[in-house]
Amino acid sequence: MNFIKTPAYAAIAKDESLIPFIINRREPTEYEVLIDILYAGVCHSDIHASKNEWGNSIYPMVPGHEMTGKIAKLGSKVTKWKVGDRVGVGTFIDSCRTCEQCQNHNQQYCDNQITWTYNSYEKDCKTPTFGGYSTCITVDENYVFKIPEILPLDKAAPLFCAGITVYSPIMYYKIKAGDKVAVLGMGGLGHMAVKFLFAIGAEVTAIDILANRQEDAFKFGAEDFVLAKDLNKHNNKFDFVINLLSGNNHDYNKDMALLKTDGTMIMLGMPSNPGVLPCFSLLRKRRKIVGSIVGGIKETEQMLDFCAIHNILPEIEIIEMEQINEAYQRMLSGDVKYRFVIDIATFAKKS
Ligand SMILES: [Zn+2]
Ligand SMILES: [Zn+2]
Repeated sequence: MNFIKTPAYAAIAKDESLIPFIINRREPTEYEVLIDILYAGVCHSDIHASKNEWGNSIYPMVPGHEMTGKIAKLGSKVTKWKVGDRVGVGTFIDSCRTCEQCQNHNQQYCDNQITWTYNSYEKDCKTPTFGGYSTCITVDENYVFKIPEILPLDKAAPLFCAGITVYSPIMYYKIKAGDKVAVLGMGGLGHMAVKFLFAIGAEVTAIDILANRQEDAFKFGAEDFVLAKDLNKHNNKFDFVINLLSGNNHDYNKDMALLKTDGTMIMLGMPSNPGVLPCFSLLRKRRKIVGSIVGGIKETEQMLDFCAIHNILPEIEIIEMEQINEAYQRMLSGDVKYRFVIDIATFAKKS
């Protein structure tokens, strides 16, 4: 098998900065395509994984599961794509394809083996996967997404995790026009949730600890903005709470109290030490607590079309690959509006 020496940035141990690193990408096999990555979004998961905060990190690790670029090379049996097509890759690059979940377009819930885009292994269980902080990637043609012409490649990148992660539960739980929805946490995912919810006509309240998010929340379509410290002035008011908090040992009773009777809290944050299950606030008002992770392939395609039709795009700040460690620091202090996107095209030229 032939390999392509590929410049990347990698975490090599949990307490160290990311450093330049060369990985091998294989030449595409029959049904694979090689993609020149042009942009890669920086997800908070990348920080958790780089620092082994979930205890499952595989080093060296090349993070990144929000990438856009162009098809550079086709495997001999690829029919779906042509060289130059504008495409994206998200959080997973393969799954078993045969289980009930895969058959029902829920590849993200594959009952057998899902191959995550990084910090995971390929089907052989020994070849590590490397993500988007790199200049190219080899992917099966069926796990690649076409990006509508109207969506620019830089802004489209965060759609593949931040976008789909909030879009999927909004659709699955059938949030509709007139529903009162609180978005708890106005970061990379939260600001996309506000935009999607506004587009479907829900009444959105954005909640954050940072007052400087208020103006943006209104711009993105929120009807109200609440500072986290005033949260419980709004108890028993919402049909849904979209919970994006990922801090440790959080008191979910306070969040749950926002819900009306029969309301639903949708958990999307991934803290390494979640707080305890809020039993009393659940059963007193017959409330529900549910979870969701990213979205399936078909749903991701639907989201891309939805974004094209409603002109929805993430707010981004472009950075150079070399600024990644500084970007992590800034994200940890909430200093990003609202997603960093790495200019991989420039990195490739310099490498
Ligand atoms: Zn992510
Ligand atoms: Zn499966």
